[in-house]
Amino acid sequence: MRTDYFKPCFVEFVPARLDPGILYISLEYATVSHLCPCACGNRVVTPLGPADWQLIFDGSVSLRPSIGNGQIACRSHYFIRGDRVIWALPMTREQTRRAQSRDKAALVAQTAQATDIAVNPPASAWARITSFLRRRFGSSGHR
Ligand SMILES: [Zn+2]
Repeated sequence: MRTDYFKPCFVEFVPARLDPGILYISLEYATVSHLCPCACGNRVVTPLGPADWQLIFDGSVSLRPSIGNGQIACRSHYFIRGDRVIWALPMTREQTRRAQSRDKAALVAQTAQATDIAVNPPASAWARITSFLRRRFGSSGHR
C-alpha cells in the first residue's frame, strides 16, 4: 500500500526492519530512514547535513530537498512536507544521467590524482632506472 503520511519516530538506532509510514529520525547519527512510500519495499536513507538533507521539525516533519530514487527500480520522486508525502514527477532519464555523470567526474578526479603519484615514482625507483641506464649504456665522462 502506498504511504501518504509519515509519522516521525525519534530513535537512537534505526531498527533493522522498518515499518511503512514511519520516519525513523536518529539525531545521534544525523540520519533519517524510511521505506519508500511507493510500497516497493526499498529502504531510503537520507543523511542530514549542510550538503545533504535538512530536517524541519515543528510538531510535524519535513525533509529538504526532495527525495529522488533515480538509482532504484521504482524511480520514485517525492517531497516530505508536514508529515505528508507530496509526489513529484519521476526522475527523468536526463536527471539520473546528470547525477551519474557528477559521480563519474568525481571518480575521474580521483584517478587523476592516482596518476600523478604514478608519474612521480619514488626515489628508489629512480635509482633503479638510472643504475639500469648506467649499466646498459655505461656512465658518461670516463672515456
Ligand atoms: Zn519505491
